[in-house]
Amino acid sequence: MKKPELLVPAGDLEKLRTAILYGADAVYTGVEGLSLRAQQAEMTTAELAEGVRTAHQRGVKVYAAMNIAAKNSDLELVKQKTGELAEIGVDGVILSDPGVLAVVRRVAPHLPVHLSTQANTTNTEAVRFWHAQGVRRIILARELNLAEIAAIARDVPEVELEIFVHGAMCLAYSGRCLLSAYLTGRSANRGECTHPCRWEYMLTERSRPHEPLLVTEDKRYSYLLSAKDLRMIEYLPEVLAAGVSSLKIEGRMKTVYYVAVVTRTYRWALDAALKDPDGYRCAPEWLAELDKVSNRGYTTGFYLKHKGEQFAGLNTEESYRRSYGLAGTVLQYRPAEGKILVELRNQLTAGDETELLLPEATLALDSTTMTDENGQPLAAGHNSYRVYFRVDRPVPVGAVVRRRLPRSQLP
Ligand code: SF4
Repeated sequence: MKKPELLVPAGDLEKLRTAILYGADAVYTGVEGLSLRAQQAEMTTAELAEGVRTAHQRGVKVYAAMNIAAKNSDLELVKQKTGELAEIGVDGVILSDPGVLAVVRRVAPHLPVHLSTQANTTNTEAVRFWHAQGVRRIILARELNLAEIAAIARDVPEVELEIFVHGAMCLAYSGRCLLSAYLTGRSANRGECTHPCRWEYMLTERSRPHEPLLVTEDKRYSYLLSAKDLRMIEYLPEVLAAGVSSLKIEGRMKTVYYVAVVTRTYRWALDAALKDPDGYRCAPEWLAELDKVSNRGYTTGFYLKHKGEQFAGLNTEESYRRSYGLAGTVLQYRPAEGKILVELRNQLTAGDETELLLPEATLALDSTTMTDENGQPLAAGHNSYRVYFRVDRPVPVGAVVRRRLPRSQLP
């Protein structure tokens, strides 16, 4: 059985380090100005160079996305960035536009190219076509089911295939969508999606424009356009049997906390599935972990359907679910004192239910033992405070501390 890599989103350097710490085999990020996640999830060339150094020291690969629907005015930047990416040694560039592909092949013929899911590749001949253009890996369309993916993998074993296993789904076909551009002037195809498919919509009758009606269903709101999130952790043996090279987690815009939890949970599960696919059982605690990050309810998307596009993953009940949030990250472990130094990223009050996420386990932290640097107990700490906790085992720098959200902060 092929051992696929676990590919994790890394919108910035901190998320890249977090992904590596919690078990990613490879990470992907955006190239400044050219990816489909504008600004908050892109790296400058200098940041990418540092990210590549850090990742390669740990045997982790880095892929850089330039998957914008490019206009002529973008091509000069594509050319410049391609040269820089080749220079710093990224392990692949992700693109969707044939023009961008042409520039990349001309400027850096040896740079591995991955075709973005945005290119909507759904069949063997399309895979062969792109491979003949110099594409090494195809990120298949999310609209395929696992049987169709397995058939493509059998047809073209010489091509690397990548599929999504976790994260947000786009209601539009392979993310080709004008809703955001139409409603806000910010185009999803230029990396600026404002996610209007997740908004709440109302109906108005023409003669009563000031009496809008919420579209409801079973007494709850119906977010008619909003997809649930993909979660394939329960079906990893079936996913592995499809024979792909890379399993991708969506979410370059997600938080460090999200990256930590989802990466380590899939690491645990994937290692178990690879070790014993026939005996694989998705542990309830893995599902519980994935419920502790922001999500919109989970679906298996199109993967388990065997004919047609029978996606049944609309979220008709509620918006985001979230029970825990980021409390802080570990800056230092002090073995002599049995303490960790944590930089808080949110308010933390003594008594809050707090946990330290290690790559292999979760430790309860007693937040009433939180102190300042002089060892004085703290009743509360705020964003950017540096505080100490007692721990009885080594803790890696960058480990994430989470806290259960008080009821008032639940979405
Ligand atoms: S608005 Fe929704 S469906 Fe359209 S691109 Fe954005 S996330 Fe996808």
